[in-house]
Amino acid sequence: MQEERDNLAARLLEEVDCGAVYLDAGGTVLFVNRRAEEILHVERGKVLGKRVDMLPLRTPIYRVLSENAQDEPVEVSIDGAVIQVRSIPLGGAAPAGELYQLRDISHDKREKRQREEFVAMMTHDLKSPLTVIMGYMQALMGEMPSKMDPSLHLFVKEMEKSAVKMLSMIDDVLDAYRLEAGLLQIDRQPCDARALLEGCCRDGEQEAAVHGSYFLSDICDGIPTLELDEKQITRVFANLIANAVKFTPRRGTISVTSVIEDSCLLVRVSDTGIGIPESELPRIFNKYFRASGAQGFKGTGLGLTISKAIVEAHGGSIRVESSAGKGSCFSVLLPLHEERCSFKS
Ligand code: ADP
Repeated sequence: MQEERDNLAARLLEEVDCGAVYLDAGGTVLFVNRRAEEILHVERGKVLGKRVDMLPLRTPIYRVLSENAQDEPVEVSIDGAVIQVRSIPLGGAAPAGELYQLRDISHDKREKRQREEFVAMMTHDLKSPLTVIMGYMQALMGEMPSKMDPSLHLFVKEMEKSAVKMLSMIDDVLDAYRLEAGLLQIDRQPCDARALLEGCCRDGEQEAAVHGSYFLSDICDGIPTLELDEKQITRVFANLIANAVKFTPRRGTISVTSVIEDSCLLVRVSDTGIGIPESELPRIFNKYFRASGAQGFKGTGLGLTISKAIVEAHGGSIRVESSAGKGSCFSVLLPLHEERCSFKS
């Protein structure tokens, strides 16, 4: 019965797509599966029953099995391939020894490098020319009073506004890509969160005024210095406020409030706008998702996905409550001192 079970386990290990090598407590190789033979360029007949320290030095199998890969997986390069090695000490009911798990991660590594190169290339090819255009437009506006027809001022200003919008869309697309590739970086530094929120509210107030809506804000006192990536957190609130303005018809109200609750900073961005149907709320933070009511409004459906990732990278949480036709409330919770915080219900 036991023998049958051992045979079955060996047969199953033969089928798995990662390499497996088992050494007994004395360091003798007792099992090598088919995938490990391929990865280590070795015939099992030549190594089974031998002790690791008797194997020829510099062979892949010797190099891999003499790695200490218990706490952290180790990466070993074998003939141009990158092999991730993890060793699992066996004990308890299992026979004592060590099981080595080998995974060829060359493909993942290559893909990650290609993604990094893609982001670098897009940043250079799309963003740099746009930054140059914006620089010249700002220079033009500087020249305006003395050398240019004042009627052109409005045109240049509109061009600049569109360029800023385009730059922020490129940033969103690139960040969504970085997020997927695990490349989005958060650089946390001590930050005056109250000043940050007030800055966002000042910009929001201007946006709302242009749009013809009312803007209210109530940012609490006593927020301690927080470890935040100021640029990214500003982006979160700027995005929530911009959405609130965008999805609220004229003469509606947008409000931003903050309170300190249970060692967390809770910021709410609410509006009296078009709201989101209940059935669509579960997908609202998904990449590219735009609710049915968003037709006719400009956007990419990436802002909330990126905002959620940024807030979570700070140990915080974000959620939405909304009712179609009545308005929405996005709440962001950021930890004051703890590592993480989340909504109770
Ligand atoms: P975008 O605004 O570019 O479409 P977001 O990711 O910021 O992308 O938002 C995704 C979708 O969530 C929006 O298209 C809209 O359907 C919905 N949404 C976000 N904020 C609001 C809001 N304040 N009121 C109503 N709908 C909203």
